[in-house]
Amino acid sequence: MKKIIYLDNAATTKVAPEVVEAMLPYFTEYYGNPSSVYELAGISKKAVTEGREKVASVIGANPNDIYFTAGGSESDNWALKATYEAYKSKGNHIITTKIEHHAILHTCEWLEKQGAKITYIDVDENGVVDLDQLQKAITPETILISVMAANNEIGTLQPIKEIGAIAKEHGILFHTDAVQAFGQIPINVDECHIDMLSSSGHKINGPKGIGCLYIRKGLKLRSFVHGGAQERKRRAGTENVPGIVGYGVAAERALRTMEERTAKEIEVRDYMIKKIQEEIPYCKLNGHPTMRLPNNVNFSFQFIEGESLLIMLDMAGICASSGSACTSGSLDPSHVLLAIGLPHEIAHGSLRLTLSEETTKEDADFVVEQIKGIVERLRSMSPLYEDFMKKQNK
Ligand SMILES: *Cc1c(COP(=O)(O)O)cnc(C)c1O
Repeated sequence: MKKIIYLDNAATTKVAPEVVEAMLPYFTEYYGNPSSVYELAGISKKAVTEGREKVASVIGANPNDIYFTAGGSESDNWALKATYEAYKSKGNHIITTKIEHHAILHTCEWLEKQGAKITYIDVDENGVVDLDQLQKAITPETILISVMAANNEIGTLQPIKEIGAIAKEHGILFHTDAVQAFGQIPINVDECHIDMLSSSGHKINGPKGIGCLYIRKGLKLRSFVHGGAQERKRRAGTENVPGIVGYGVAAERALRTMEERTAKEIEVRDYMIKKIQEEIPYCKLNGHPTMRLPNNVNFSFQFIEGESLLIMLDMAGICASSGSACTSGSLDPSHVLLAIGLPHEIAHGSLRLTLSEETTKEDADFVVEQIKGIVERLRSMSPLYEDFMKKQNK
């Protein structure tokens, strides 16, 4: 394969070599089922326990409150559906936001069909949730607030500590989809009064198909997958031992390298943002200028289609996204970009670049050069742009 510059780390990440290395023996040598009684199984069981401890330490949780799942989507589904089922006799109202991942939004739509009442809170032009609106939305029927810790498209960080405090004050459960934030920014489940938190291995240089739901001790959530007694009878199925080992090492690595890695990413991110703003006219940075994920760059370019830009970037060996990886096949612009108030035509011209610790300023120079050339070419074919320029020159 030709050399690529991979700038789609919000969609998935490369598995770190130390993660692969740690996983390998659990495919070939230590393949025992953790539930069996012999010594070989004990090795697997110990590996699962260690993975749980490593994942828990990233968010300051008790390892016993970590439940392994098949990833972020399952964790989000579980948190919302099981909370509704367990607490609907108390109330049927859930508060979330307009910019959640589809794993939350589509689960909410399904819950509405089951009788739940959902309030979708607005965000401001930077993508920050309106805390005033959130406070006002609370009713005696409200059982759950679910707000993501960081947005996967525009990178905006949410004030989850404040939201947790509000939830606690009103005796409401608080869930956060922290799939993008986990291991990228410090999060402590106690300080933020988080009752449930979703995380996923493949977003932190770990394997795909493994994640967890943190469930604070004392919550009455039922099992989401029925069967064996794994995960303290809350999530049946033989444990994904190699996955858990890899996820654990990835979590430990993310925590260990967080400060240095994110400082480096922020430097390249801000360099890239500045360069795009200086070199490409009629563009707009989406998301909060400072309260954003260390690796997220999201721009709208007027008078172009994001999809065309993506295809032409791919031809130059650059992997990027026009919004969320899940929107492919749909012509609707991203719900997140609409929620921050972008008109449809501008939202359509959007590009998300999510860096890794390996992304250099030289990469940034090359990528911005490519974007600049492609945007110029696409605009030169746009009748809208032609009209606009004629008006400008009058
Ligand atoms: C990727 C992602 C998910 C889904 O996680 P999977 O492990 O791919 O199921 C959920 N929420 C957010 C914010 C994400 O970025």
